[in-house]
Amino acid sequence: MKKHYAAVLVLSALGLPAAGLDKIDAEVKAITKSAILIDTHNDIPSFTVDGADIGNAPKNHTDIPRLKAGGVGAIFFSVYVSSKYVDGNHSANRALQMIDTVYTDILHRYPKDFSLALTAADIERAHRQHKIAGLLGIEGGHAIEDSPRLLRDYYRMGVRYMTLTHTNTNGWADSSGDINKPGVEHHNGLTPLGKDIIHEMNRLGMMVDISHVADKTFYDALETSQAPLIASHSACRAITNVPRNMTDDMIKALAQKGGVIQVNFYCNFISQKSADAPKDAPVRATLADVVAHIDHVRQIAGIDAIGIGTDFDGIECAPIGLDDVSKFPNLTRALLEKGYSPADIKKIYGGNTLRLMRQVEKVAAGLQH
Ligand SMILES: [Zn+2]
Repeated sequence: MKKHYAAVLVLSALGLPAAGLDKIDAEVKAITKSAILIDTHNDIPSFTVDGADIGNAPKNHTDIPRLKAGGVGAIFFSVYVSSKYVDGNHSANRALQMIDTVYTDILHRYPKDFSLALTAADIERAHRQHKIAGLLGIEGGHAIEDSPRLLRDYYRMGVRYMTLTHTNTNGWADSSGDINKPGVEHHNGLTPLGKDIIHEMNRLGMMVDISHVADKTFYDALETSQAPLIASHSACRAITNVPRNMTDDMIKALAQKGGVIQVNFYCNFISQKSADAPKDAPVRATLADVVAHIDHVRQIAGIDAIGIGTDFDGIECAPIGLDDVSKFPNLTRALLEKGYSPADIKKIYGGNTLRLMRQVEKVAAGLQH
């Protein structure tokens, strides 16, 4: 039997026409090349700050060879400030250390591979130059130590989004992470200072990120902000019932104002089985779970509301099939097989986030004085 004929037999036994597989293969390749895949939340700076080399980091989810294999076009590097720095007021110090590692250990160390991006147009320019656009997003509003002056400093240093809270409620916004914790002083959402900070972010052109926040904080931010919001790394509570995920009502309200939920890849946020498993017997989520969250957002809020925010290197468990930054072609294939068009996938991968960034820039331009 000829080899080709054997392959066709195997494929037809799997229910797949050989020509169909070739077609999907070609589409996956074309999308990997042409889409600008923007990951709005990657935590590799938490490792480069301690000496990891993004040029080759096999123990991590993220390094340059795998970013290239995965077709990643732009990354928001997370300037993550743990709540432990709140004690003794070290949050701003940590934020500055993290901003420095993005510049020194990533962008400036590998200038042939990365290009700093401050705007949507910068991302597109980097893509044309076959470089990965590098952006900065602060995770944890305590990084500004309750001062709009620090917010402005961070914007000048290139920070283009801020996640209003991490897992801790801060001086001006409630978090989902401690909302039921006794002894924590809560504000019922955003304080007047919190609303001022949203206005200042709008004026600067810094995206307001509502991942991690308490539900009431989300609704307050949505009402206060003149620009659309992002949920830089969030998933759907209707599928995985954890307080950190967004309800259908929140996702619809976000989308109605032009916002985007960038779907998180963390096992415990995308699979109820993973979330419910005991800590000593972890259960891994799969590629299919990520697709289920994407598809749920599409059904309730539409294709224009979906993005990608992996949380790679900020999570100890990534889904089987989306194990690291090189595996995005698996997601492309799964979405094509589910009936998503190449145009749909380009919106999910980057088009929606670029549209939102442009809107944030436009609102800021209108608010300058
Ligand atoms: Zn996070």
